[in-house]
Amino acid sequence: MDRRQALQLLAASTLALGSARSALAAVGSSRKVVVIGAGIIGAAIGYELAKRGADVTILDRTGPAAGATGDSFAYLNASTKASSRPYFGLNWLGMAGWRAWQQEPGAALPLRWGGAVYWREGAAATQLLAASLGTVRGWGYAGRAVDGAAIRRLLPSVTATGDPQGAFFPEEGSVDPAEAVAALLARARQLGARTVFPAEVIGLVVASGQVRGVRTRDGELTADAVVIAAGLGSGALAQSLGVPLPLTSSPGILVHTRPQPPLLDRLVFAPHSTIRQTVDGRIVSSSSGHEGGGGSGDPAAIGRAILAGAADYLPQLRDSAIDRVTIGQRVLPGDGFPIVGFASKVDGLYVAVTHSGVTLAPVLGRWAATEILDGIRVDLLDGFRPTRFS
Ligand SMILES: Cc1cc2nc3c(=O)[nH]c(=O)nc-3n(C[C@H](O)[C@H](O)[C@H](O)COP(=O)(O)OP(=O)(O)OC[C@H]3O[C@@H](n4cnc5c(N)ncnc54)[C@H](O)[C@@H]3O)c2cc1C
Repeated sequence: MDRRQALQLLAASTLALGSARSALAAVGSSRKVVVIGAGIIGAAIGYELAKRGADVTILDRTGPAAGATGDSFAYLNASTKASSRPYFGLNWLGMAGWRAWQQEPGAALPLRWGGAVYWREGAAATQLLAASLGTVRGWGYAGRAVDGAAIRRLLPSVTATGDPQGAFFPEEGSVDPAEAVAALLARARQLGARTVFPAEVIGLVVASGQVRGVRTRDGELTADAVVIAAGLGSGALAQSLGVPLPLTSSPGILVHTRPQPPLLDRLVFAPHSTIRQTVDGRIVSSSSGHEGGGGSGDPAAIGRAILAGAADYLPQLRDSAIDRVTIGQRVLPGDGFPIVGFASKVDGLYVAVTHSGVTLAPVLGRWAATEILDGIRVDLLDGFRPTRFS
C-alpha cells in the first residue's frame, strides 16, 4: 500500500467512526491522536499513547529519525544540566524512564549503560567540572571525583596522560538513536498505532477553537488531539495557528566509524574529544573544536580530523574506516528549556519540542500521554509550558 492509499484508508475509517467518536467525552483512551514527527519525541509520545490504548497515527514528512534524532550523540545524562534544578530533575527522570522502557516487552532498545568519565585541561575547566559535580551530588545524583589512575582503571583502552582530575557519573549511558526510534515505533505498531511515511503535515484543521485534525499533501486526517513533535519544523506549524514557538538551531558534527572490537564500556569526555561506542561496535565521536565553522566545510575532511583527535585518546582508532559523517541541527527552544504541553489558543493542540530530547523522551512521552488522555496536569512540567512564550 502506498502513502496516498494509506492516508485515504485512514481518512475513510476516520469518517466512519467520526460520529460515534464525537459522542464520546473527549478524554480517555478512546481518543484519536495524530502525532506529527517520528523523531525520538514523536516516537516516545506515540508509544506511550498506544500503551494507553489511544488510537494513534504517527506521521513524518521524511521518515523515522530523519531530523535531529538521527544525528544525535544520544548521551543519556543529567550531569550537564546543573544550571537548573528543575531541568536537571527532568533529565534524571528521563534516564530512569529509559531503564523502565528497557524492562517492557517488545523490540529491544539499543542501550549502553556504564557511566561517563570526564576530565579537562587547565585549572579553570577542571574547577568548573568539579563545581558541577558538587552541585549534582548535592542533589543526590551519583558522581565522584576521579584522578588519572582511576580514569585509566575505568577506561583501560584510553590514553589519559599525566594526573588529570575528573569526574565519573556511573548512572549515565547512551542509546543508538535511530535504532531506538525504530524499536519504539515497532512497539507502538504492535499496540495498534499506525505510522505513515512520508506524510508531510501542511496545516492543522481547527473549528470553534478546537483542533480537528491535520492536513497533509495527500488529504486530511481527523483527530481529537494533535501533537506537534516536529523538531525544527514545529515552529511553522504552531505559528500557523498563532502559537509562538521560538526555536533556533546549532550544528553538531559527528564521525561514525565502521564497527570496531570492544574498546569502551563507558562514554569518554576527554579535553578535546567526546567518544562513545555503539551497541554494534561503531565509534561515534565529536569535538567542540570542529563546530565553529557552523557545519560548513568538507564533511569528509572534518570527519578525519575529528577521528584523528579521538585517536589521541584511543590509538586503536588511528587507521579505522569512517562509515559516515553527520551534520545535525540541534533543536534549541528560545530559552534552552523544553516546550511541552497544551497550547493555550487551540484546544487539543499539544506541543513537545526540546533539546536533550533523547534523554528526555521517556518522561516527556509518558507525561504527554497522561496529559492528553487523562486531562491531568503534570505539575513537574509546569516550568516548561508553551504558554511562557505567549
Ligand atoms: C549533534 C547533536 C548532538 C546531540 N546530542 C544529544 C545528547 O547527547 N543527548 C540528548 O539527550 N540529546 C542530544 N541532542 C538533542 C536531541 O537529539 C534532540 O533534542 C532530539 O533528537 C529531538 O527530537 P525530536 O523528535 O523533537 O526532533 P527531530 O528528531 O528533529 O524529529 C522531528 C521530525 O519531525 C519531522 N517533521 C518536521 N516537520 C514536519 C511536518 N510538517 N510534517 C511531518 N513531519 C515533520 C521531521 O522529518 C523529523 O523526523 C543532540 C542533537 C544533535 C543535533
